[in-house]
Amino acid sequence: MNLHEYQGKEILNSFGVRIQRGIVATTPEEAVDAAKKLTEDTGTGWHVIKAQIHAGGRGKGGGVKLAKNLDDVKSIANDIIGMMLITPQTPPQGKLVNQVLVAEDVYYPGDSEPEEYYMSVLLNRATGRNMIMYSTEGGMDIETVAEETPHLIFTEEIDPLLGIMPFQARKIAFNLGLSGAAFKEMVRFVTSLYTAYVKSDSSLFEINPVLKTSDDKILAVDAKVTLDDNALFRHKDYAELRDTREENPIEVEAKAAGLNYVDLDGNVGCMVNGAGLAMGTMDLIKESGGEPANFLDVGGTADAQRVETAFGIILKDPNVKAILVNIFGGIVRCDRVAQGVVDAYKNMGDQINVPIICRLQGTNAKEAKELIDNSGMEIISATEFQEAADKVHEVLSA
Ligand code: GDP
Ligand code: MN
Repeated sequence: MNLHEYQGKEILNSFGVRIQRGIVATTPEEAVDAAKKLTEDTGTGWHVIKAQIHAGGRGKGGGVKLAKNLDDVKSIANDIIGMMLITPQTPPQGKLVNQVLVAEDVYYPGDSEPEEYYMSVLLNRATGRNMIMYSTEGGMDIETVAEETPHLIFTEEIDPLLGIMPFQARKIAFNLGLSGAAFKEMVRFVTSLYTAYVKSDSSLFEINPVLKTSDDKILAVDAKVTLDDNALFRHKDYAELRDTREENPIEVEAKAAGLNYVDLDGNVGCMVNGAGLAMGTMDLIKESGGEPANFLDVGGTADAQRVETAFGIILKDPNVKAILVNIFGGIVRCDRVAQGVVDAYKNMGDQINVPIICRLQGTNAKEAKELIDNSGMEIISATEFQEAADKVHEVLSA
C-alpha cells in the first residue's frame, strides 16, 4: 500500500525521525490556516506548497512551489489543488491533486550550502536482507545517478537478527562526507529511519532528499513510504491511510469483492482459480498470440455469484476481446463451476459481448463439458491446455 508524502512523514515522525514539518490542506483557505499554524509552531516565514499524489517528480512538474507570504500560499494552493499534475511517474494525462502539504521552508534564505542526500531502505531479494541505499547525489533523479555514476550509490546490508549496528550508521555518515555535529545527527537519523522501517512493516522507504541544513540538522524533506499489505493486520491504525482515489478503480472494486485482481494492458481477460495456474494461464495466452488483460485468481469457491462478479470486473476493461476461463476442479467440482459460468452468462445477457473460452479440468470435467456444450450459450469449451490456447487464437484472429 502506497502512502502520500504527508502520511509517510507522520509515520517517520512517530518513530523519532526528524522531518520537514507540515500540515495537509484540501482548500486554499485551509492552506492559509495551516501556514499560520506552522509559523506559530516552527517560526518559519516561508512555506513550500507540495502536491500530494502517489507519484514522484512533482517538483519538476510544477507540483512543489515556494510561498514567501500568505497571499502566495493562497494563490499557489489555489493553482495546485484541482490541477492534473503531470510528472515522469504519472500517466500521460497526469493525476488529479486533491490536497497539498503546506510545509515549513527548510532551505533557509541565505543558506548557501544546503546538502541534499538520497536514502532508501528496502529488501534485497537476492540476499533476503534489508538494505540501506544512499548517495551524496540527492535531490535529483536517482535512476540517472544509477545509470551515469553508479559508484556514487552505496548500500549497507542489515543483519535481520542484529538490526542496524552503530558502526554501520557511522559508516554511512562517513561515506556521506559528514563530520562533527552533522555526523552525529546523521547517525541518529539513519538509526531511527531503519527502526521505523522495521517497526512499521514497510517494504520501501525512499527519502529524496535527506537535507543537511547549514546549522547541521539532518531531516527528511520528502518521503515515499510503501507499507506491506500482508502486515497491515498488525497496524490497524494504518488501514485508514489507504487513499483509493489513487488506486486503479477496477482493482479497488475487485478487492472489495474478495477477488485477487491485477489490471494489465492486454486483450484477453482470464479467470482462474489459484495463483500458480493464473500465471500459467497468462503464459498460455501469450503463446496463443494474445496478451493477458489481467491477472485474476477467483480462489477456491467458483460459484455462480463469484463467477458473475468476476466477469463483470473483467468486462469493465474495454480492451478485452475474449475471456479465457481456466479452472482446475480439485476441491471444487468442475460441473459446479460450469453451472456457475452458465448461470452467470444467463444473468448477464448482453453485458457479455466477447467470446468466452472455458477450460475445466479435474473432478467431473466430462460432465462440465457436456453442461456447457448443451447450455445453448455461446461458450466455447476446451479440455486440454493447448486446445484452449488454440481456441483463444482462433477467436482473436477471427
Ligand atoms: P518530488 O519532486 O516529488 O520528489 O518532491 P520533493 O518533496 O522531493 O520536492 C522537490 C524539490 O523541492 C526538492 O528537491 C527541493 O529542491 C524543493 N523543496 C522541498 N522542500 C523545500 C523547502 O522547504 N524550501 C525550498 N526552497 N525548496 C524545497
Ligand atoms: Mn523527492
